Amino acid sequence: VGPRLCRRLEGEAARAVLANADTLLFDCDGVLWRGDTAVSGAPAALGRLAAAGKRLCYVTNNSGRTRVAYTEKLRRLGFPPAEPRHIFGSAFCAARYLRQALPPGAAAYVLGGPALAAELEAVGIPHLGPGPAALPGPAPADWATAPLDPAVRAVLVGFDEHFSYAKLCQALRYLLQNPDCLLVGTNRDHRLPLEGGAAIPGTGCLVKAVETAAQREAFIVGKPNRFMFDCVASEFQVDPARTIMVGDRLDTDILMGNSCGLTTLLTLTGVTALDEVQAHLDSDCPARHSLVPDYYVDSIADLLPALGE
Ligand code: PLP
Ligand code: CA
Repeated sequence: VGPRLCRRLEGEAARAVLANADTLLFDCDGVLWRGDTAVSGAPAALGRLAAAGKRLCYVTNNSGRTRVAYTEKLRRLGFPPAEPRHIFGSAFCAARYLRQALPPGAAAYVLGGPALAAELEAVGIPHLGPGPAALPGPAPADWATAPLDPAVRAVLVGFDEHFSYAKLCQALRYLLQNPDCLLVGTNRDHRLPLEGGAAIPGTGCLVKAVETAAQREAFIVGKPNRFMFDCVASEFQVDPARTIMVGDRLDTDILMGNSCGLTTLLTLTGVTALDEVQAHLDSDCPARHSLVPDYYVDSIADLLPALGE
């Protein structure tokens, strides 16, 4: 085991690396699909891995879907069948975090959508707030005095397409009301890339807004935090030395994989180009080396020959 050099994974090396792994963790968007279209050859590659007896798990920072919704998307796009317990989305992992961190009966004030609400309900955490903003009054002066629910012991920030100034006010008020109120974010992705170089602001922007108002740092559930890997490891017997993290993003997928002692594989079907890795490799800054994967492929479809096709 030498330094990570981001070598192309092909031929005999690909066969050996895959033979040495019993678990593969897949990031979703940019690896398995882009938006609603499967990466060409990806369903076949995962089908082969499953047939070879590998355990396949899915780790995604997207808080906009439940575990069950991910199993349905995988099936719809032709991937091998997955059970909800193989899916580690940031909505599920956030619910799990709050379940262990909050006392029974405590509620969460949520900036997020229906998936986040559903995952909280699944673990029995009462919640307020998801969905379109219910304004407590017409003006900020009213928002500052509207009643607060005393059961709220956490503010949870996920992807919220109805994020508003009124919700930000309410989140701040809960955090000020009780210094023990937890502040939790699903992830810090700064942008969600769209086709053709366009992008929309990611959940990291919303987490930052609440952190700035509260002058507190959120606990982040998603990648690169190892909490997400710990969720996988508490559900399955995973040996980091026999686990491959496959992702398209250096500062989330690859950083988490490297810091958890996994073998890391970058795929170029998503947000990262190879010259970004080269810049990290050339840098004198040791911290940047933790963003360098062990291997890369143009697409996970390139694993097919090593899998006997
Ligand atoms: N957050 C949101 C709201 C998203 O829609 C996406 C991708 O679609 C992501 C995060 C990134 O997801 P992943 O970790 O699967 O790349
Ligand atoms: Ca991704």
